[in-house]
Amino acid sequence: MTTTLPTADDLRQQAQDAARRCGVDLDALAGDHFVTSPVNGQPLSSVRWSTGADVDGAVARAVEAFRSWRTVPAPVRGGLVRRFGELLREHKADLGTLVSLEVGKITSEAEGEVQEMIDICEFAVGLSRQLYGRTISSERPGHRLMETWHPLGVVGVISAFNFPAAVWSWNTAIALVCGDPVVWKPSELAPLTAAASAALLDRAIAEEGAPEGLSQVLIGGPDVGEALVDHPGVALLSATGSTRMGRAVGPRVADRFGRSLLELGGNNAAIVTPSADLDLTTRGIVFSAAGTAGQRCTTMRRVIAHVDVIDELTERVAAAYRRLPIGSPVAEGTLVGPLVHGAAYKAMQNALEAAGQQGGELVVGGGRRFEDEAPDAYYAEPAIVRMPEQTDVVRQETFAPILYVLPYRTLEEAIALNNDVPQGLSSSIFTSDQAEAERFLAADGSDCGIANVNIGTSGAEIGGAFGGEKETGGGRESGSDAWRSYMRRATNTINYSGELPLAQGVKFTV
Ligand code: NAD
Repeated sequence: MTTTLPTADDLRQQAQDAARRCGVDLDALAGDHFVTSPVNGQPLSSVRWSTGADVDGAVARAVEAFRSWRTVPAPVRGGLVRRFGELLREHKADLGTLVSLEVGKITSEAEGEVQEMIDICEFAVGLSRQLYGRTISSERPGHRLMETWHPLGVVGVISAFNFPAAVWSWNTAIALVCGDPVVWKPSELAPLTAAASAALLDRAIAEEGAPEGLSQVLIGGPDVGEALVDHPGVALLSATGSTRMGRAVGPRVADRFGRSLLELGGNNAAIVTPSADLDLTTRGIVFSAAGTAGQRCTTMRRVIAHVDVIDELTERVAAAYRRLPIGSPVAEGTLVGPLVHGAAYKAMQNALEAAGQQGGELVVGGGRRFEDEAPDAYYAEPAIVRMPEQTDVVRQETFAPILYVLPYRTLEEAIALNNDVPQGLSSSIFTSDQAEAERFLAADGSDCGIANVNIGTSGAEIGGAFGGEKETGGGRESGSDAWRSYMRRATNTINYSGELPLAQGVKFTV
């Protein structure tokens, strides 16, 4: 594809218009940090950064908001999230544009990210009437035992560049119905998306008469994140990003006995068995491995294919890769946009070189497009590398579109390879054999937080709990009962017997 990339003026104008419609004047945000668009590698705008010192004030305002918000009935809190969801629906295209311009997602995926925000709002509104506790049989006559869920406190959210708004909304929609305010430190690569998203929530807060300090955004670098991590007023710290970041954050929150929810790196595999439908498998692999230019935490990075199908499968996937339209993410028809910056491209090149040294054979891709036209934009051709075994480079997460293809002979061996990486986010098996699928999903099957059958590793729905094990951090957010992380549980014993029997038959009479 030979699309000419949009001009810098054109992109700036699009960003300004989209932000303005969401209620943000980009000139008012301007400061000494450039916001660069990966679409052409040119500055889109500039922003002023907060510093760690600003965190104190933000947390104090959030604590103040918490005092009143926690006593507002949860279904009424749901009303705020309903309004926020309506505004997101109205501004889906605007936010989608900002996501595309700031992080390079193709329009369909950028709008999909906003749709995910709308979906979580709808989920949270329903949830606001379902924050159930249990009643439990008491061993004592005339007693009732029950549990109550209460708002937890201030939630600090640190988010990654690749889901610059959805991750915040997963946390925020749930936190708000649970009675918690949110202080957000977005990725420094996507401050405009953050400002626009937060402006829509501010509007909903004003319209619904909710406390002002419920939602705050602090645009800045890791020092702002660190100050949130260490702040004793932050009850839950929800951090999404690299395992390196989580390794720094987790122990610091634990040290002050805070609660953390970590959503870190993945190294996701698909097992392809001899009975797999290779048409469907090829489509599933191509979306998961090359979609979002390989920059999803759930991106498929490994295919573990049975020796009987590995050659045919690799050829089919490679043929699809050769046809992939690579180009401007805002141009119609593009399926693969740019990498977020030059460092990501360099990491990809380093990994490809290491793979070669470790016995890998490059099947397709790895090159760069539009280099002459836009020397500061990094459009990479998604790569496939056949590996003789799971070497060191395969066991690392390289946040770029490299798919390693590995052979296996027995299902036990394939499952062992799936699990033999430090990360534990997403996994899948392609098979027509139900026993194989069940083995993969069983207790001794995939060790990941997400295990799929006949579908790729990426593209989760908000209804399920999202997250993974091992170096992925163990956190769960979004659907199912992930809300429990945002509340505190009180166990209540109520005695209506007029006597005072003690548990476990203990006698203590004076
Ligand atoms: P990153 O770790 O570089 O940055 C993520 C966020 O953490 C940013 O806001 C950054 O400013 C902040 N940060 C960095 N160091 C910090 C510190 N010491 N203390 C506090 N905050 C700090 O990640 P990235 O490059 O933006 O995103 C890509 C990574 O995120 C990949 O590893 C990907 O797998 C992961 N990710 C995981 C999930 C998930 O749900 N598991 C989702 C999206 C992305």
